Amino acid sequence: MDRYDVAIVGAGVIGMSVALALKESGLSITLIDAASAPASEPSGRGVDGWGKRVTALTPASEEFLGSLDAWSAMHRTDRVASYTAMQVWDGEASGAIHFAARDVGATALGHIAESQLTMSVLAELVAAAPAIHNRWSARVVGCTSDAEGVELDCDDGSSIRAELVIAADGARSNIRDLAAMRTRQWRYQQNAIVATVELEQDHRDTCWQAFLATGPLALLPLAESNHCSIVWSLDDDVSPRWEAASDAEFVDGLNRALSAVPMRVTAVGERATFPLVQCHAVDYVKDRIVLVGDAAHSIHPLAGQGINLGLADAKVLAESIINAIQRGGPWASAPVLGRYQRLRKTENLAMMAAMQAFKWGFGSRNPTAVMARNFGLRMVDEQRWIKNWFAKQAAGA
Ligand SMILES: Cc1cc2nc3c(=O)[nH]c(=O)nc-3n(C[C@H](O)[C@H](O)[C@H](O)COP(=O)(O)OP(=O)(O)OC[C@H]3O[C@@H](n4cnc5c(N)ncnc54)[C@H](O)[C@@H]3O)c2cc1C
Repeated sequence: MDRYDVAIVGAGVIGMSVALALKESGLSITLIDAASAPASEPSGRGVDGWGKRVTALTPASEEFLGSLDAWSAMHRTDRVASYTAMQVWDGEASGAIHFAARDVGATALGHIAESQLTMSVLAELVAAAPAIHNRWSARVVGCTSDAEGVELDCDDGSSIRAELVIAADGARSNIRDLAAMRTRQWRYQQNAIVATVELEQDHRDTCWQAFLATGPLALLPLAESNHCSIVWSLDDDVSPRWEAASDAEFVDGLNRALSAVPMRVTAVGERATFPLVQCHAVDYVKDRIVLVGDAAHSIHPLAGQGINLGLADAKVLAESIINAIQRGGPWASAPVLGRYQRLRKTENLAMMAAMQAFKWGFGSRNPTAVMARNFGLRMVDEQRWIKNWFAKQAAGA
């Protein structure tokens, strides 16, 4: 049986980030993923050339990726777009808010990067790190823990023993289930359709977000001035219609949804659909198993915060472990892991509650709710101090 100090299950963005953050800690690390190694960097720039999944990264996430040497490598590709403004409006009424980076003295509110780009850059760094033993195409199917450590069984018949298991295996975490870690979970009764669109106009380095009666629609600017990535969250009863629509019908539907802003979609690339689930683990730590990223919490993509919360988990967990090693104490102990849980759970829960409130407030077609949110959006837009506060939150300042 192979033995390591740390076994990380799941080599998505979060699993690879924790591994890299721990690579100088002196610990032996194995990183296991059921999928094959990520595809190389995307290279196309047409509607079907950009990766379908993109993420909006906050300055805090950029700083962390920078500390892993990933951010500069991502930037060098000329595929990362900075966004300097956000335009949010109510598709059912006339309320709107405009946030700009310059209002809070920042040069950008954040950056948009394709998930495939982030993954391929991290995978190269992981492959070059001597302390990380990386295994692709191995699914973990068994997990048993005792006072000294955890044993993992893989579907190829191999087994691993580690002092600590970090579960970064996504929203449907198998490790979380195998360890009988409880969750609170509910479906939003929505699916998200993602695709790249071509615009008639320049996207003006702006994130556009409409709150429609059927769910929010976001347009995220790409590093080509007339291309955006869309995330269109749609109620279960309407999403099949838009999944089955022809490209022309889909473009027409988008243009109707965008009628309040000067943006016209001219073409759409291949679409993909994701069911939206909100899930939060009751505890992030059990014995010597610790959850990070979507394994601990998955939230609605409307605020584009899933990856950012996960990267913050990765940073705090790695710092807690490294601090314990530097103090010469036990690094996989309950107090060390408890510190991580305490610091991250509060922030993750606050974000999830905010998303739930947004979903509730903007999902309603009740005229009183429409009036109230319309008033709220206008009030925020007119009050510079509240607006600046929101802009600072967006910029992670
Ligand atoms: C439509 C949509 C749009 C989004 N947009 C944004 C956005 O704009 N900004 C943002 O911040 N977030 C966004 N998110 C959320 C973001 O994509 C997730 O938060 C993020 O991908 C979670 O990363 P992760 O590494 O925790 O999990 P994952 O990316 O799910 O990775 C989990 C990994 O674990 C592996 N795995 C699973 N089970 C096993 C097993 N048993 N054994 C071995 N390996 C296993 C999988 O193969 C996978 O590689 C969006 C989500 C959706 C659905």
